Amino acid sequence: MGKFILAAGPTGQILMTEKEDSTGKEYECDHFHISSLLLQRAKKYGPEKAVKNLSRIATGNETQEEPIQIDSWSAFLTHQNPFAIEVEALQYAINTWIAEQKPPALWNTSFFAMFFEKPELLPEGLAAEAFLYRCRQLQTRPEINSELFNGQLTTLYESDTLLPLAWAEVWYALQNKLRFRVCPYCGKVFKLPNNAPFKSYCGDADCRQKYLIDYHGGLEAYREWERVRKKKLGGGKRGRPRKRKDNGNGD
Ligand SMILES: [Zn+2]
Repeated sequence: MGKFILAAGPTGQILMTEKEDSTGKEYECDHFHISSLLLQRAKKYGPEKAVKNLSRIATGNETQEEPIQIDSWSAFLTHQNPFAIEVEALQYAINTWIAEQKPPALWNTSFFAMFFEKPELLPEGLAAEAFLYRCRQLQTRPEINSELFNGQLTTLYESDTLLPLAWAEVWYALQNKLRFRVCPYCGKVFKLPNNAPFKSYCGDADCRQKYLIDYHGGLEAYREWERVRKKKLGGGKRGRPRKRKDNGNGD
């Protein structure tokens, strides 16, 4: 068994693996790389499979992730797999605390009250519980090293498994007021541009099409809109009118 170490800094993250035989690897990646991998694969293969293969996909190291063990979860959410609850909670945390800049509120309602009287508070409560539980599994320490973000003071997050590091990404983003969101179509965690803080999907061509279909209220309406739009553009061609071919004489 080895360890996983995440160094987060202003320009991104470095994910490091450490093994007992002192071999290790380093991966430079974007903020939310681990969460993004997990949420994208959860969309494709379901949360349990996504969790199971997370460390292998991210680092090549096989690791057994342990589910969150909270009494109220096993008592009240009996029909749900704890990994599924956690993946849902992670997505909620990013889309609410990070994208909307609404940090976890002090929620002093008991789980019982949330579950039976105010079910609308449940996602916030579950996300907060998952966040606190996973962050307690982290070991954090400062590092100053010329190879990490030009020697700037950096926080290292260390964990035996990878799931706590997904929550470390949330923790870092909360403290540094980063703005990211989960694409509802592919699960990718994407950076919200300063000039478009409410951008709702990642911008990939596939997701853009799905967004437009939703936006127009279904496939039929979307096709009609496309047809009218193309007509307006003229000749059924997309985009800008084509430039005349350069004949090489400079005119
Ligand atoms: Zn997407």
